[in-house]
Amino acid sequence: MSDANWESRCKRCGKCCHTKDGIACEHLRYIGAASSCDVYDKRHGHHRDISGRAVECLPMEDYMRIYGMPEGCGYR
Ligand code: SF4
Ligand code: SF4
Repeated sequence: MSDANWESRCKRCGKCCHTKDGIACEHLRYIGAASSCDVYDKRHGHHRDISGRAVECLPMEDYMRIYGMPEGCGYR
């Protein structure tokens, strides 16, 4: 499957950009129900959540291996 086909499965829910206790990454933006990342092209690495705690943005396969897949994620 091409990267574009694979990425088209994302529903832009933004759940993978929240910590386990539900606090969002500082770079997560919503237009209605659709999320986007304001640093998408350079997203992987260290950031902060909106409470100021350090968070790490991981490639999705690493995220899923560590945290599991968010409920309702299009990659399920
Ligand atoms: S940096 Fe990563 S975790 Fe933060 S909003 Fe962008 S994609 Fe989500
Ligand atoms: S949890 Fe899945 S569907 Fe939702 S934004 Fe993340 S990758 Fe996309």
